[in-house]
Order: sequence, then C-alpha cells, then structure tokens
Amino acid sequence: MRKLIIAGNWKMYRTINEAIDLANGLKRELFKLDFAYVDVVLCPVFTALSEVAEVLNETDIGLGAQDVYWLDEGAFTGEVSAAMLKDAGCQYVIIGHSERRQFFGETNETVNKKIKASLKHGLIPIICVGENLQEREANNTFKVIEDQIKGSLTEISGEDLLKTVIAYEPVWAIGTGKTATSDQAQEAHKYIRDLLRKMYGEEAAQSIRIQYGGSVKPENIAQLIGKPDVDGALVGGASLKADSFSAIVTRASEVRK
Ligand code: PEP
Repeated sequence: MRKLIIAGNWKMYRTINEAIDLANGLKRELFKLDFAYVDVVLCPVFTALSEVAEVLNETDIGLGAQDVYWLDEGAFTGEVSAAMLKDAGCQYVIIGHSERRQFFGETNETVNKKIKASLKHGLIPIICVGENLQEREANNTFKVIEDQIKGSLTEISGEDLLKTVIAYEPVWAIGTGKTATSDQAQEAHKYIRDLLRKMYGEEAAQSIRIQYGGSVKPENIAQLIGKPDVDGALVGGASLKADSFSAIVTRASEVRK
C-alpha cells in the first residue's frame, strides 16, 4: 500500500510571523497523528522557509518550497536554486504548479530542468499536471496530461521517478471551490498511472504516489482518498488554517488505517 502524502501549498500568503504561528498550530494539532500512514508537507513562501524549518525541527512534518531554479548559482536575479532550498531546510519542492504555468511562463521544458536540478540536490519534486476547463470541455484532458507527463519526465530514469510525487490538479478546480468528483479524480489518476506503467514498467507505476489537488477540504478528502489511485492531496486554500488542514490530514490517515 502506498503511503499517503498531503502537502499544504501556502501560495503567496502569510508573513514570517504568521507562517511561524500556522506551523506551530499544525504541530500542536498533529501531535497525535500516526505518521506511519501519511507524509505531511508544508510549503510556505521562500522568505518563511528557514523559520518554518526551525518550527518543524524534530517533528515528522516535512518542508517544501513552491518553485526552484535549475542552475546552482549565478546572475539570475530573483531566482532560488535547489541547493539553496536544501540549505533553508527543504526536503520537497512543488514544480510546474498551474499558477506558474499560467502567470509565469512555466513550460514542460522548464519543469523538466527544475525536476533534474531538484533530484540532483536530493529534493523530492512534487510535479503538477492538469488540464484547464477549455481543454476538459474539448475532451483533451488525457492528451494534455500525457504531454505534460512526457515533457516533464524527459530523460528522468525509473529510479529517479520513484523519488518524485505527481500532483494531478485540474486547473478548473484550483481555488474555485469546484472539486473534481472522486470519480473524475480517479479516472485521471488511473490514466496517469497507466501512462507511467507504459513508460517505466509495473513496479514504478505501482510505487509512484499521485496526489489530487483542487479545492480539497475536510468534507471531501475521505471520498477522494477512498479511490484506489488517489494517494494524497495538494491543498491550497484549506492549508492556510491549522484546523482545516489538520482535519484533512487526520481524516485521510483514518481512512487509510
Ligand atoms: C493548489 O494551490 O495547488 C490548490 C489545489 O489550491 P486549492 O486547494 O485552493 O484549490
């Protein structure tokens, strides 16, 4: 059975002090959680990473960044490298989030470079894929996902694939309050797992974790997690409050027990 992974994407919210408070709140709420069933990851803004790392020190809660640049250092104003994220205390990094694809020109090619750089420095990439509403309505969902998966994973070995997490995030469900039904999520997750089976074989396909993202809340997590190919969640809005995020994590772990 694959271990669940639930990550909170705090997006561009929370100052350093607010991030410390939120991380402390989660630490208290998740004190009794059995981490044997679920990996929990918090992804604050860059400026709060070190402070949140300190709060999470000696807990089972992981830390992730929301983006990374693919070179180690250099004259690249505004960018942050994988080595720097490691230095700040990260174990994970979100790559190719739809907001980065939509507003900052992220492409499958840059996603691929970022995945390679992250793996080189021992960071676990959370690789985001997903179709927008227009693409879904034009029946192009699977084609879009296939292009994103194949483009993002160019020259990534089967061994390295297992050091990554895939997040299926239908763009029309992100921040809209409109969750994909658990059947829609399962259909896309199964498609991704079948595609990875063709690319990397049975063992890799069975081992890789595929999270669902898009308006996940305490009320819908159990149904999503109940599907055979849904291995966790990438949570935006509901991760910004300790009570809702801890309720999501706790419910998910109870379903999996
Ligand atoms: C996200 O930011 O990846 C996300 C899924 O956001 P929300 O949960 O708010 O839809």
